[in-house]
Amino acid sequence: MKKLVAAITLLSLARLVLPVPCVAAAGDPTPLVRTATVFPEILDGPQRYSVLRGDFHIHTLHSDGKLTPAERVREAWAYGYDVIAITDHRNFEAYAEALPVAEEFGLILIRGMETGLHEMEHLVTLDFADDYVPRDPHSWAESEGGPRVYYRQQWRKLTDARGFVLYAHPHVGFNGAGAWAAETGDPLDPPLRHGLREPIRWGLAEGLLHGIEVRNHTTDRGWGVVKNRGTLWFPMALDWAEQYGLTVFANSDVHPARAEAGNAHEPQSATLLLVRQRSREGAMEALRAGRTVAHFGGMLCGRREMVATVVKGLTRVDFRSGPNGAGRVRIENLGPLALTAELKGLDLKPVVLDAHQTALVELANAPDELSIAWTNAVIRSTESLVTIHRCLR
Ligand SMILES: [Zn+2]
Ligand SMILES: [Zn+2]
Repeated sequence: MKKLVAAITLLSLARLVLPVPCVAAAGDPTPLVRTATVFPEILDGPQRYSVLRGDFHIHTLHSDGKLTPAERVREAWAYGYDVIAITDHRNFEAYAEALPVAEEFGLILIRGMETGLHEMEHLVTLDFADDYVPRDPHSWAESEGGPRVYYRQQWRKLTDARGFVLYAHPHVGFNGAGAWAAETGDPLDPPLRHGLREPIRWGLAEGLLHGIEVRNHTTDRGWGVVKNRGTLWFPMALDWAEQYGLTVFANSDVHPARAEAGNAHEPQSATLLLVRQRSREGAMEALRAGRTVAHFGGMLCGRREMVATVVKGLTRVDFRSGPNGAGRVRIENLGPLALTAELKGLDLKPVVLDAHQTALVELANAPDELSIAWTNAVIRSTESLVTIHRCLR
């Protein structure tokens, strides 16, 4: 245990305050105000990425949502999203209606629809060809030969039409008593009791499942959601994402206005994309390459490599020795999201760095190496990212 001679100093350049936007209807003279979340460029070797905030699961009046497609675009703009997909159940009529509004607001819009198995797994599909004709959407049969289309036939038709498919709020359906089979309502208690049913296992084996929601903002009970790290999410989905190479999503699945939906007391969830190009093509390339991190409940959550890239890109750690073996650690948060750094082996409370804050920690004895656990940067259901820093002498 190293002794501290000075407490942490926090230098704050700015605090991130995210007010709830007032989303007025078109024609209303109330100004529509956007709060944008500005990220620095993320460098990964020679590659430079821009960070986009995305939401790829949204409903409108074309299914059971309460807003029109145009209102959804204005709302997403006001809430600081850069890219969205409207994903009504069974149809994609919203796309054509929303596209001119999205273009006017500078928002990237991706064609989407929610489909899947009859009363079981829900699948959100993105960017499929515009001539794709859905058959029995959201009602695929689990066996062949019945009146409804067999899921294997229709799922493949969707991916043949270039559809990107993600597993939404990844519950596994009803049990005989009508309750969600995977519903635990309990804190995370590994080993997790959730499982994948045959249709999803088949989709994985065939390479037809590309992404998964680790967070669905609307799901505040049931549906297999787990209370963990102070919020409701699908920790097992993060482990499946790592195991099967799935793109990680935190989507809203919003039905009413955002301010009234689901976990309304929490800031909106977002899927952060690392894009090479700010366009529909750039966003889809990032999704297909798995370059996303979910942001919700104060966490950054994703596959190990992506979370490491994002945390490295959003921070600067300078660890060096001074006279008589003393040392100093300077940790800068260059980004707009709060990060918590736990300096391993030191008798020190975790350092919470708000947006654009810098912390200085002075040590009586500098070790050769320092491990930092970024406790709100989550890479597995039970594991946070750890980075190692050598002391510059
Ligand atoms: Zn759904
Ligand atoms: Zn939905």
